[in-house]
Amino acid sequence: MDVDIVCVGFGPATAGFLSTLSQQLVNPDGTPAVESTAAPGLPLQVLCYERADDLGFGVSGVVTKARSLRATFPDLDPAQIPMAAAVGEERMVYLLDPHGASRRSLAMRAADTMIRACRWALPFERQALKLPWTPSFLHKHGGLVLSMGQFMQWAGARVQSTGTVQIWPGTPVSQALIEKDRVVGVRLLDQGVDKKGRPTDGFTAGMDIHAALTVVGDGPVGAIGQQLDVNFDRPPGHHVRDWAVGMKFVVDLPADTPLKPGTVWHTFGYPEPEIFGFLYVHPDRVASLGIFVPSWFDSPVRTAYRYLQHWMLHPCLWHYLQGGKLRSWGAKSLGESGRRGEPHLVGDGYARIGEGSGSTNVLTGSGVDEAWATGTQLAGAVLELLKAKKSFTKQNLEAAYVQRRRTSWLESESIAAEKSRDGFQKGFLRGMIGMALAGLTNGTLSWPGNPPPPWKRIPTVEEYYRGRIAARVLDRIREECKARSSSLHGALMDQAGWPAIPFDGQLLVSHQDALLMGGKVQAPPGYADHVTFLDPELCQTCGTRICIEACSGQAITPGENGVPNFDREKCVHCGACYWNCSRPLAYDPERMNIAFRAGTGGLHSAEN
Ligand SMILES: Cc1cc2nc3c(=O)[nH]c(=O)nc-3n(C[C@H](O)[C@H](O)[C@H](O)COP(=O)(O)OP(=O)(O)OC[C@H]3O[C@@H](n4cnc5c(N)ncnc54)[C@H](O)[C@@H]3O)c2cc1C
Ligand code: SF4
Ligand code: SF4
Repeated sequence: MDVDIVCVGFGPATAGFLSTLSQQLVNPDGTPAVESTAAPGLPLQVLCYERADDLGFGVSGVVTKARSLRATFPDLDPAQIPMAAAVGEERMVYLLDPHGASRRSLAMRAADTMIRACRWALPFERQALKLPWTPSFLHKHGGLVLSMGQFMQWAGARVQSTGTVQIWPGTPVSQALIEKDRVVGVRLLDQGVDKKGRPTDGFTAGMDIHAALTVVGDGPVGAIGQQLDVNFDRPPGHHVRDWAVGMKFVVDLPADTPLKPGTVWHTFGYPEPEIFGFLYVHPDRVASLGIFVPSWFDSPVRTAYRYLQHWMLHPCLWHYLQGGKLRSWGAKSLGESGRRGEPHLVGDGYARIGEGSGSTNVLTGSGVDEAWATGTQLAGAVLELLKAKKSFTKQNLEAAYVQRRRTSWLESESIAAEKSRDGFQKGFLRGMIGMALAGLTNGTLSWPGNPPPPWKRIPTVEEYYRGRIAARVLDRIREECKARSSSLHGALMDQAGWPAIPFDGQLLVSHQDALLMGGKVQAPPGYADHVTFLDPELCQTCGTRICIEACSGQAITPGENGVPNFDREKCVHCGACYWNCSRPLAYDPERMNIAFRAGTGGLHSAEN
């Protein structure tokens, strides 16, 4: 099939692109403003393919300054968007460890002792210190608390109501079509295949869609972005070594909650110092809350789910959450390398937008506004080129799109953020100081540090628990978990002093229940596995098997001969396994031993 523009993924970046483009494709008298080259005589033919089974199922994001959203929708009224509220009270909270189970440095322990000793003079309550002020670079004044899923459904409906653009959910793009270094369109995923992609009854080969421009907005772990990175490489010195796994609950707060819609809290210090938390309140007593587990948390058992529950149980948060009920749950990874992770933004026949193009700002903790802005900038560029009857060459896209991006707030803010988190490579306290320095000096100062490839910094279980769990106890735990064919993290956390989670069937539920109740995960039959282990020998000799420990959906489990099993039915497409694998490929030390390809299914909730 031939079209003019094909888009991969319907996240905030593509929504920004299509919302801007679709408003300008038809003249007020109904005639096409730009004529199609693929179908002469007709309006521009624009298609968008989204992997997830419905719009808003594959995204996340909650609080945003909404600058670029408001630029696209000047009349934006939060009351018209489900779960949207204007940002109200903003608060930063340092959480102390009520159990003594977290891994804190001596300096942090000393600081905690001081805080506890001076508690009478401080805003200290329920084992938490409320910071007297929120740094200005973190403020979201004038912004919105959103459910990104709900917002994407709202934005998608507006785009489609123009009648100028088609969006197809449940349709993963399997690869970009590349001819002589020019992207000429995309191929959709084969259907009617077995787990390994071999044709079975009802086989239908993925359709080829040819387009003059392919817009790649497939997020931080998109298969098409990865393919372009391999094919065209990254600009010299650029790499994606910083990322985080975000895991989140959407909950009904208790009936008597004092928390007002628009409340925005950020926490740090617990359950481990490196893990940041957030709680944002929507209208009607609904809250989104969760944690980020970053790449610089040097643990070989980075399990987000159990840590999320300990975080919720912290007295400061549990005070507000007790009696609440789980509505939905989800996990997704974030590319946090920003400018350093920028790929080639354009090439002949393609342009990249959104988080996969390095837009997320780790200093301000903001990705939605930035992703949306890249989409609107590309739309402006595309309209300019179409009206000037110029083709989508690398040179023309550089001049029209990349130039717009380089001269916008996006660029200046991403320069300020570039080195802001480098200090975390040297420890938590230095990281916090580095962020404050970068934030307060607009990036002029920061704490120096050089992020290594993530696999280089994953210690062995023995190294991580040295001094806390004896080697013979570790051996015993390993044997017991092996016999049960279960992951290690639960047993290790129990041994390290973390209390058991008091499941209540409402808010504190097992990981499996969260998948069913909260994520409503589904995977249609007839598709190949999208997570595969590239070199089984590397798995056989792998000391950490961190892919099993870190899997957000318990979709990766111990397998025979040391090679893990993957269960597509449980996968939430978060991409954590792709980032977390501890073994690099011999031929490319920036890539690890897991392939994360395009796939169907995953979360079936648009609240995330
Ligand atoms: C838990 C969590 C909380 C967050 N909170 C905030 C916040 O409060 N504020 C904020 O500003 N940002 C937040 N972010 C970051 C924000 O969500 C991202 O920066 C933003 O969503 C990036 O938008 P995007 O369009 O570039 O990519 P994505 O949102 O990742 O969208 C990409 C889309 O492409 C689809 N896709 C991928 N591959 C294919 C394929 N092969 N074929 C078809 N479709 C495909 C995906 O399903 C997805 O819908 C949060 C992120 C997480 C994980
Ligand atoms: S995928 Fe990576 S982390 Fe998992 S077992 Fe294989 S080498 Fe180890
Ligand atoms: S297997 Fe699926 S759920 Fe598990 S970490 Fe990988 S992408 Fe996430």
